[in-house]
Amino acid sequence: MTSPHRAASSKSSSDPKVTADAHLISLLYANKMEKIHDFLDKNVEMDIISIKDARQYTLLHIACLNNQINIVKLLFNHVRYLKVPGQAITEWINAKTDEGFTALHFTSFKGNIELIKLLEQYNANIHAENSQGLTVIHIAAQGDQPVSIAYFRSKGLDVDVPDVKGSTPLHWACFLGMENSAAYLVTLGCSPNVPDKESGLTPLHLAVISGNPRIVRKLLIKGANKNIRNKEGKLPIDLAIENEYDNITQLLQNKNWLLSCLNIKPALDKKKSRFSLFLFFFLFFGLAALNIFSIFPYVERVEWVAAFGALVGLTFIFFLRSWLTNPGHIKNPNKEDLLNLLLNNDPHLVCPECAIVKPQRSKHCEYCNACISVYDHHCPWINNCVGARNHGRFVVFTVTTLFTIIFLFAFAVMHFTYELSWNNTDVLPVYKYFPKFQWNDQAQMMFICKQVTCLINLFAFLMFTIPLIALNYVQIYNLVAGKTTSERFGFNATHDNVNQTLLQSFSQDDWNSKLKESSQSQKEKKKWYVNCRNMCCLNKEDSRYTYKVFTSPVRVEKHITSMDSPDYSQI
Ligand SMILES: [Zn+2]
Ligand SMILES: [Zn+2]
Repeated sequence: MTSPHRAASSKSSSDPKVTADAHLISLLYANKMEKIHDFLDKNVEMDIISIKDARQYTLLHIACLNNQINIVKLLFNHVRYLKVPGQAITEWINAKTDEGFTALHFTSFKGNIELIKLLEQYNANIHAENSQGLTVIHIAAQGDQPVSIAYFRSKGLDVDVPDVKGSTPLHWACFLGMENSAAYLVTLGCSPNVPDKESGLTPLHLAVISGNPRIVRKLLIKGANKNIRNKEGKLPIDLAIENEYDNITQLLQNKNWLLSCLNIKPALDKKKSRFSLFLFFFLFFGLAALNIFSIFPYVERVEWVAAFGALVGLTFIFFLRSWLTNPGHIKNPNKEDLLNLLLNNDPHLVCPECAIVKPQRSKHCEYCNACISVYDHHCPWINNCVGARNHGRFVVFTVTTLFTIIFLFAFAVMHFTYELSWNNTDVLPVYKYFPKFQWNDQAQMMFICKQVTCLINLFAFLMFTIPLIALNYVQIYNLVAGKTTSERFGFNATHDNVNQTLLQSFSQDDWNSKLKESSQSQKEKKKWYVNCRNMCCLNKEDSRYTYKVFTSPVRVEKHITSMDSPDYSQI
């Protein structure tokens, strides 16, 4: 949308009506409320309905574009005073600019629901389309206004409607890098795989062109197909390489199957699956059982047997507790409507999927499809999130798993070095406990079993020890520092301008309180035991992390000064 001309239509400037119209238009563009008031008071008979500027913007268009509800009310009062017929007012409300936009389009762009409702009272047409077929939902997407999208959706409008070139609101949100709109639209069911008619570009292509990795990631998570080619035969990754967007190229590259299989770098199409859980269960406890049956009879010191048994038992208990404990799903206690939440809260803080206001430190898990309190990460090995309610249990689970693996290694080392060489098998310690047990074929079989078990132990040690040490290091550091893995290494934490949009949405007071909080947490950092206790036990009861925290409306007016930004005529 290019900046409207501020001059009235080019009639003779000596015409007093033209001069008055031009003056009023300039006052509206300048948002001079008092002066407009005075001017209209002095010109009570002035026909303001017919006033248009060079681009066919009525006074209503200009007031809505500037998001000035008080000026709109002033204009309506003036029109009522003139006793203009209802039909003429309706035509004025629905008048179109030279690009075909109505005042409602502009209001939708600003996300001002109060103003939208006011226009609707005067019969504004919510189905209006401009010359390109852009609806109010397209424009809401361009303005990054989920609240407008939710409002018009509640009125029955289709959020996946194409314009004349086949571009849906999601296409526009992706093209212009509007993260909130894109996230809401894709969550509301808009397809990320529909190509537009003209260029065959899908929303994923357009998100790549906009250079926004967060939108690309969101689309991939929601099932965007990265193998669709546009009409020039280009894949999204080709566009990322052309534009030298390295971080987006990495997102679009096919992952290493081994890293993906080991869940070190899981694929982005997040589907909850019990495969890894059962794989871990059978590998780990199967190996433990194999050791118990094939190595225990050879182990002379009963303390080793007891220690290993206790470790495996603890691992089993904490595996079950990590898996089956609710990690801290945040519910919508009042079953509040998404639109209400958006109206009363900063849209950045509302999760469209759970219809909740996200408390501090929470995050939506795409696998569990729920917001998790003090979200750490989603662990496929326990098929559950790690959050406020099971963080401590998960850390005990990882520590005991590591020690169990070290035990397995110790058994193998003992076997292959001295204790149980082939020559001394006839003095198996097991004879002490089972005197009738004799050296025979069965004993030979057992010895071979033990050999194989020890080889498997060595293999398991080599495969899993380094990842387990890294995991334990990260998790123990998390507890000591009072932070989560997501806060330290999450996608947002490792990408530039991480919380820029979030920060913009806070008022200065919020920002100051954030800074204060952060300096408090810095002090607490030294008290490692306090952090550990909070992370393991107290976070789950802290209302800041479990309930709605922003009770006062924090509305965002981020586009109020950027009227020139989106160019509707692109694509
Ligand atoms: Zn959520
Ligand atoms: Zn999860």
